[in-house]
Amino acid sequence: MSIELGKTLQNTFGFSHFKPNQEDIITSILQGCDVFAAMPTGGGKSLCYQLPATLLPGITVVVSPLIALMKDQVDAAHENGVRAGFINSTLSREEAADIFSQLKNGRLKLLYIAPERLSTGDFFNQLKELELSQFAIDEAHCISEWGHDFRPDYLSLSRLREKFPNVPISAFTATATKKVQEDIITRLRLKTPLRVRASFNRKELYYRITRKSNVNQQILDFVLKHPGKSGIVYRTTRKAVENTSSYLSEHGISSLPYHAGLSDPERKHHQELFKKDEIDIIVATIAFGMGIDKSNIRFVIHGDLPKSIESYYQETGRAGRDGELSHCLLLYSRGDAGKIQYHIRNIEDELVQERARKNLSRMISYAETSVCRRKQLLSYFDEDFSGNCGMCDSCNDEIELVDGTVDAQKILSAIKRTGERFGINYIIDIVRGANTERIRQYGHDQLSTYGVGKDEPKEHWHAMIDELLGKDCILRDEESFGALRITEKGNGVLFGKDTFSVAKRNATRKSKVEAEYEKGDEALFNILRNLRLEIARKKGLPPYMIFSDKTLREMCIKLPDNKMSFLRISGIGRVKLETYGSLFLDAIRNFMGYHR
Ligand code: ADP
Ligand code: MG
Repeated sequence: MSIELGKTLQNTFGFSHFKPNQEDIITSILQGCDVFAAMPTGGGKSLCYQLPATLLPGITVVVSPLIALMKDQVDAAHENGVRAGFINSTLSREEAADIFSQLKNGRLKLLYIAPERLSTGDFFNQLKELELSQFAIDEAHCISEWGHDFRPDYLSLSRLREKFPNVPISAFTATATKKVQEDIITRLRLKTPLRVRASFNRKELYYRITRKSNVNQQILDFVLKHPGKSGIVYRTTRKAVENTSSYLSEHGISSLPYHAGLSDPERKHHQELFKKDEIDIIVATIAFGMGIDKSNIRFVIHGDLPKSIESYYQETGRAGRDGELSHCLLLYSRGDAGKIQYHIRNIEDELVQERARKNLSRMISYAETSVCRRKQLLSYFDEDFSGNCGMCDSCNDEIELVDGTVDAQKILSAIKRTGERFGINYIIDIVRGANTERIRQYGHDQLSTYGVGKDEPKEHWHAMIDELLGKDCILRDEESFGALRITEKGNGVLFGKDTFSVAKRNATRKSKVEAEYEKGDEALFNILRNLRLEIARKKGLPPYMIFSDKTLREMCIKLPDNKMSFLRISGIGRVKLETYGSLFLDAIRNFMGYHR
């Protein structure tokens, strides 16, 4: 790490190491190059433009779609002693003029703006009068119609290059698909940008899927096991949100609902209380989440099946931004899949319908197989992962296995008897005895395996094939259009030498990894958390902005007793040391004295 970068990282942000890719990105920005970076939520994208902002001579302009988040980011920058401001529709004319005069006088290094500003020529001219060092486009996927959150306002960003040909542009997104990536680069007219695609593996997230039986009771049980922790519960409908939220409240859990049926001020208020740790739990439809950077969300529960892996991944990704262990629980029932299918049938556009169907079927197979969750999620984003992550129900033997040899043999035999030349859907059609012309043409309706699995639904056989793929009993030959082939291991199962087990989900038990994460004194942690809350209330800031949970945890483990050792804790820079050091050091000293 270069000495100067290392110093700024430590002094201003309080971190001793860069997260993956941060240093490359920052170096490129400092050299005046364009950058495109796809990094997962919590990957540390903000630092990639904030750190250069403090070193470059002029002003860094950050475009961000979320007005609510803008104020938070400016507050957070101030907490680190970085001078920042924002201009959006919440400011009066006078306030905006004041920001501009501060910019002109060189009193601000970072300016956050909403994209709609850029559609007015006037604003471009005002920017022209300033010395600009870089543009950083946050949530850059909003510029692409292929993305999950297209915003027409973002299209005006295409003009930046033409208006400011000499100002480098960097683009950041947590959307992983390649199509969106190319779209962003083209539309922003990035010039041979540094391209970064970080791993989308979120090591700190523990994935677990449990059969849904009594959903409210199951959610309550989970919440009771994580007292005082901040969490999101997602439900599909307003009614379900209201229902779960009141159930939790009746059982003494501090929670509030969030959905489109509430008035704007109500929704904002609930979100604010959640952000500021004044309530533990928010029960919400998927309308909630975009634009909240709260770093200490310790769990995300899905009370209903999400529509796609992409949305499941984005939603679960809101937990654990601070890198501390966080839980993702999905309560799964086949009935939910049926409900989504019902909606899909009513979609008029055939292409959209087909896409929705594919998305759902991948989601179902994710929920039904016993292969390492992480392996499955990452393979969805075209990332290879060996499995055995140790941080999911599957890798921790939480799943009770039952014998599935006979079903496996049905699939394997259908593959073998058709010469290992056909893909997944055709094989399933044979096993289920589908009456298709293609099957008749090949005479495959005469095979002994034809129709042996007609009593089970398609999804069952899809899941079975996923299990066989995940356990390397079969493989997909992409060169032969996805034909399934049987491996040596698969032959072992087919010819009865080996057995094959599949998942039957069962009661959860605590994993070794989970136990590891819970080191440090819980009583001290609670004292520090309350201190943080008290300070946050006074300042009107969300507590995680003062210190992250990770920083508090580290205090509990390292027990700093002077300013130097306090500064060594991750997330504490010079300004935070000055502002909060003595308060927290006193609290730790008191605690230690009392316990000695
Ligand atoms: P993203 O925008 O990519 O989702 P953020 O910029 O919000 O991520 O950062 C996520 C968290 O990681 C924040 O709490 C931030 O303070 C922390 N973080 C960023 N860079 C580092 C680093 N080098 N070391 C430790 N923590 C970091
Ligand atoms: Mg971000």
